[in-house]
Amino acid sequence: MTFDIQKIRTDFPILSKKVYGKQLIYLDNGATTQKPQKVIDRISRIYSQTNSNIHRGVHFLSEKTTSDYENARNTVKKFINAKSEKEIIFTKGTTDAINLVAFSLGEYCVNEGDEIIVSQSEHHSNIVPWQLLCERKKAKLKVIPINEKGELIIEEYKKLLNEKTKIVSVAHVSNSLGIVHDIKTVTDEAHKYNAYVLIDAAQSVQHIKTDVQKLDCDFYTFSGHKIYAETGIGVLYGKEKILEKMPPYQGGGDMIKSVSFEKTTYAELPLKFEAGTSNYVGAISIATAMDYITEIGLENIAKYEAELLEYATQKLSSVNGLKIYGTSKNKAGAISFLLNDIHPYDAGMILDKLGIAIRTGTHCAEPTMKFFSIQGTARASFAFYNTKEEIDTLYKGLLRVQKMFGK
Ligand code: PMP
Repeated sequence: MTFDIQKIRTDFPILSKKVYGKQLIYLDNGATTQKPQKVIDRISRIYSQTNSNIHRGVHFLSEKTTSDYENARNTVKKFINAKSEKEIIFTKGTTDAINLVAFSLGEYCVNEGDEIIVSQSEHHSNIVPWQLLCERKKAKLKVIPINEKGELIIEEYKKLLNEKTKIVSVAHVSNSLGIVHDIKTVTDEAHKYNAYVLIDAAQSVQHIKTDVQKLDCDFYTFSGHKIYAETGIGVLYGKEKILEKMPPYQGGGDMIKSVSFEKTTYAELPLKFEAGTSNYVGAISIATAMDYITEIGLENIAKYEAELLEYATQKLSSVNGLKIYGTSKNKAGAISFLLNDIHPYDAGMILDKLGIAIRTGTHCAEPTMKFFSIQGTARASFAFYNTKEEIDTLYKGLLRVQKMFGK
């Protein structure tokens, strides 16, 4: 399919909305993405035609929803090229998935004195679960430093690795800076010490085609709401042989084979990690969103978004007094910046009145802000439905903000 931006924009009903009488320009895609009509219709169709709890009923509706749910798992498997459906676990989102791994893999392989590695530029969701694990097990959290461009310093990372390293967990793309990290090298280096590797793909799965088998990471996770699907649903990929060894994270319905007061046995993968009624509607919405993306082609999306990012970087760099944080050449999806000494909240609020939605603050990445000695940034984050014209409007909006502050 050719990349027809006008057609694509009409697929997303919210994009034609006006706010404060101005055409909406949605540049907060790193926080959450908008939904195509296909996904909205699919969700509506489930509730109007087939809704029923999964895995439990023998009746028509339950069997239909169960098969849609399991087909969704298959779609996800293909999308990231996992080996087996057993390796695809539906979670509540990225945060939930990282907590699952931190608990369960932690129980399996982390002991007192062991070490876990994250990076300076992680989202809080990829820091705090590991801190909790370290507290529980008296293990040590080590941090890969970043350089001024926001890149991981790989030489320093190599020095952190040793026989005590049990888990390395890094984002593919940092949410606060938009830097694409060299996760293949991170993974290969960790494996030299038999450490497990988790890739937080919350900001990459929608931008960069990923093949988990080629990458060889042990875990890979992302959230539905950032890939044009519902919120409250996400995916954890894990290698089957590791998931097999890990104890369950939560107990409840669906994750058991048999329950008795004498001995409870657990379900096979992937259900072992899906306790309770899952967000089956959300899971199906992920598959619909993935089908939609596949129709357009993730390579086409990546190419278009790279052009957009390049254009936005040039345009924003031409604003006097604007400083971009995260200047690596390898970037995707986002530009973080500060405008003179104007507080990002003030800039964000003025842009909002012009119909432009950006994010301001620490982006749940306080250690990254601390590294740059700043309180926060303004962040424009992009999706494939954004246009150069929208970036031009952002540019004019920024000039207006400066004017209002006498800059
Ligand atoms: N990691 C990264 C890199 C993120 O950008 C986010 C969301 N901003 C998360 C983790 C957490 O995702 P969620 O809130 O969907 O669980």
